[in-house]
Amino acid sequence: MTLISRLDQRLRALDDASLTRRRRIVDTPCAPRLLLEGRPLLAFCSNDYLGLAAHPAVIDALREGAALYGAGSGASHLISGHSRAHQQLEERLAATQAASIPHARALSFATGYMANLAILTALGGEDDATLFCESLNHASLIDGARLARASVQVYPHADVAALAALLEASTANTKIVVTDSVFSMDGELAPLAALLALCERHGAWLVVDDAHGFGALGEHGHGALAQAGLVSTNLIYMGTLGKAAGVAGAFVAAHASVIAYLMQRARPYIYTTAAPPALAHALLTSLDIIEGDEGASRRAHLDGLIARFRCAVQVAPWTLGASASAIQPLIIGDNAAALRAAAALYQRGLWVPAIRPPTVAAGTARLRVTLSAAHTVDDVAQLVAALNTLERH
Ligand SMILES: *Cc1c(COP(=O)(O)O)cnc(C)c1O
Repeated sequence: MTLISRLDQRLRALDDASLTRRRRIVDTPCAPRLLLEGRPLLAFCSNDYLGLAAHPAVIDALREGAALYGAGSGASHLISGHSRAHQQLEERLAATQAASIPHARALSFATGYMANLAILTALGGEDDATLFCESLNHASLIDGARLARASVQVYPHADVAALAALLEASTANTKIVVTDSVFSMDGELAPLAALLALCERHGAWLVVDDAHGFGALGEHGHGALAQAGLVSTNLIYMGTLGKAAGVAGAFVAAHASVIAYLMQRARPYIYTTAAPPALAHALLTSLDIIEGDEGASRRAHLDGLIARFRCAVQVAPWTLGASASAIQPLIIGDNAAALRAAAALYQRGLWVPAIRPPTVAAGTARLRVTLSAAHTVDDVAQLVAALNTLERH
C-alpha cells in the first residue's frame, strides 16, 4: 500500500463512522446572524459569550493598536516581542485574579492551547511529579499532560473522593491537580471548592482552566475562582481571551514565583513569537467592557437567555446536560443522528454544531448549543421552536 492510499483508507474509515469534520466558510464577523457560504444563518456555535468579537469599541481599539504597534510583534517575548501593550494587559489580567491568588502576576500567551502546554510541561517537568487529571479535561490539557515528564493519573469526572484516594496513595514530590472549571462540551462546573480543599490538604497545586468562565462568570466577569470565592496560593489559573473577551490569546495568573518560573522554563512560552501587540491593545478595551456596567448587563442578559432556553426546550428522548452556563448540550447519542439533527436545523436557517467523538465520549454525540449576550430573546425562541419540532429518531 502506498503512503497516500494508507491515509485515504483511514479517511474513509472516519467517513464510514460519520466522524469526518468539515469547515464552513463564514463571510461576516462573529455574530448570531452571519453569512455562511452566502447563506444567512442564525448561529449558536461560538464561544463569544458576551458578543465582544464584533463590538465596535473593541474593533476600534484593534485598529488603534495596529496604528500604535504595527501588525506583528516580530519576536518572542524574551527577545524583543514584549510590547508595552502586552505589559499593560498582563497587569490588568493579574488584577482580575488578585482577590483569589495572593501575590498574583500574569503571563500572556498567544493561545490557551499553548498556555496549558506551558503550565503542565513546566510544573510537571520533573519525573518526581504527578499530574492528577479530570477525565473530561480539554484536549490541550490532555496534550500538556502527555508532553510533561510527570506521571499522569486520571480521576473520574467530578469524583472528589476518587481524587482524594489517589492523592492519599501518591508519593510524588510535586502533586498537580488539573481541571477545567466549565467543561467545554457539557457546560457543567467542576467542584472547585472541594478540589481546592483537597489540594491544600495534600500540598498540591490546583490548575484551573477557565476558558469558558473568564469574562462570563463571577463579579466583574473575573471568572470561576471569583464566582466560587476561592483564595489560595495553590491556585494556578488559566483564562482565555478568544472566548468571552472576544479577541484572541490567553493568560496564566498565579503567585509571582510561579509566573517567574514559567517565564524561565515553559518552552511553549519561550520558543514562540509573541502575539501581535494590537491584540493586547484591543483586549484592554475588552477588559474595560467586561469589568464595567456594560459587561454586567451583558452577563445578566445571557443568564436570562440560558434560563429561557432550559425552560422552553423539549428534551425527550434526548438529554439536556445539567448546565447553568452558556454551553447547553442536547445529548443525542448516535453520531449519524446528531448529524441529521444539525442538518435539519441548518435547513431551517439555524447553525448548531454536532459534536462527536473523540471530542466527546463514544455514544454521547450531541448538539452543542452555545448562547451569547449578542442573541436576542427572539433568537432563542426561534431556536427552541425549531428544536421542539425536529423529528427525533
Ligand atoms: C478553547 C479552550 C482552550 C484553548 O484555548 P485557545 O485560546 O482557543 O487555544 C483550552 N481549554 C478549554 C477548556 C477550552 O475550551
